[in-house]
Amino acid sequence: MQKFGGSSVADADSIKRVARRIVDTHEAGHEVVVVVSAMGDTTDDLIDLAEQVSPAPAARELDMLLTAGERISMAVLAMAIHDLGAEARSYTGSQAGMITDSAHGAARIVNVTPGRIRAALDDRAIPIVAGFQGVAHDTKDITTLGRGGTDTTAVALAAALEADVCEIYTDVDGVFTADPRIVPRARRLSSVTYEEMLELAAAGAKVLHLRSVEYARRFNLPIHVRSSFSARQGTWVLSDQAQQDHIAQGTAAQGGTPVEQPIISGTVADTNDAKITVVGVPDRPGEAAAIFTALAADSINIDMIVQNVSAESTGRTDVTFTCPQGSAAKALAALENVRSAIGFTNLLFDDDIAKISLVGAGMRSHPGVSATFFSSLAEAGVNVEMISTSEIRISIVTRAGVAGDAVRALHTAFGLDADGEAVVYAGTGR
Ligand code: ADP
Ligand code: ASP
Ligand code: MG
Repeated sequence: MQKFGGSSVADADSIKRVARRIVDTHEAGHEVVVVVSAMGDTTDDLIDLAEQVSPAPAARELDMLLTAGERISMAVLAMAIHDLGAEARSYTGSQAGMITDSAHGAARIVNVTPGRIRAALDDRAIPIVAGFQGVAHDTKDITTLGRGGTDTTAVALAAALEADVCEIYTDVDGVFTADPRIVPRARRLSSVTYEEMLELAAAGAKVLHLRSVEYARRFNLPIHVRSSFSARQGTWVLSDQAQQDHIAQGTAAQGGTPVEQPIISGTVADTNDAKITVVGVPDRPGEAAAIFTALAADSINIDMIVQNVSAESTGRTDVTFTCPQGSAAKALAALENVRSAIGFTNLLFDDDIAKISLVGAGMRSHPGVSATFFSSLAEAGVNVEMISTSEIRISIVTRAGVAGDAVRALHTAFGLDADGEAVVYAGTGR
């Protein structure tokens, strides 16, 4: 299974280059299935177009529009492969058997029935599948899986076809200790566990779609993230045990003794969230439940939550949470609807924030990580507004303007800086 992201198929020359790579794999005797994203910034351009036509485009129609981007790239890639003398057949998500629920813009895969893909492989043809899309089992409407969802198409299809590996080709050499566009001295990880990759993706490292990692973990499918612009080894995303084997093999190959896992696998800055504060919530049991029930009813994903200590004089408290900027308007509307029932006094909205995270399985067993984390942020002049942690992650919220400084400070403080600069081959990072 090979997946090519938008920057790998941005123009005609890139498409021909990718076609060569696919045909080489095919000629080496592998059965190869390809999943492809829309060319370059096509998806963003289509969204801009939709918003010019309609300020709040109908979700069903927006999905129909966006899936056109992947149709273009799958068809032209198949043409380029034909010209190299191999047979390729393009398929929409629906034709490839990507069956989803009907949540437009964020559909979940409920079943994968890749009969036509298998048949194409049996004919020695190379199937090219449009990423990020499917068909709803109940309404039969065309759906999309959410931004970046082509990774999830690739992993789900790889699992259904029992592929050995899902290769994710992108515009950097793998998963790094930070986004190389923000931290030039980021270091490539040779391997990372599903667990750490889930935390990195959830923290906003967009190199892999979060759900693709969840899917791979469930099926224990290895992911290899690498560049379509070089032949270098990338990053293997593996189970704990497979990662240990991978490290042991690597050190044996270099004639060394196995090293311990690094404590920290990465730092992430995410500026796509918004912060909402519900002011003056009566301090009695059930109020938080009422707030978050109202938000859940509108399918709003909540990330961090903080409740202040209530002021004794008023018996009221503030509840602050973060959610994706894209769902903030819906969240505010949902809360307005329950304002009188809950009896809070005001709503505050702030989208000029960044979430900064540090992820590493070694945090469990190494004391002092929080101390280094907060002192390096303080030295960099980063003010901490909210804090949340998991067993292997610390995240804070601060001003968006200091996001870059914050990740660079953490990257240096935890000794992650490489000697040279990481290569970013293409793309706008949009
Ligand atoms: P594609 O179009 O191939 O799906 P994306 O733009 O979705 O590519 O993802 C690749 C980008 O992810 C890189 O260009 C890089 O800027 C960004 N990125 C963010 N965090 C990381 C990280 N920790 N390691 C590597 N890349 C990262
Ligand atoms: N083209 C879609 C997007 O830009 C899906 C993807 O690239 O993974 O979000
Ligand atoms: Mg992507």
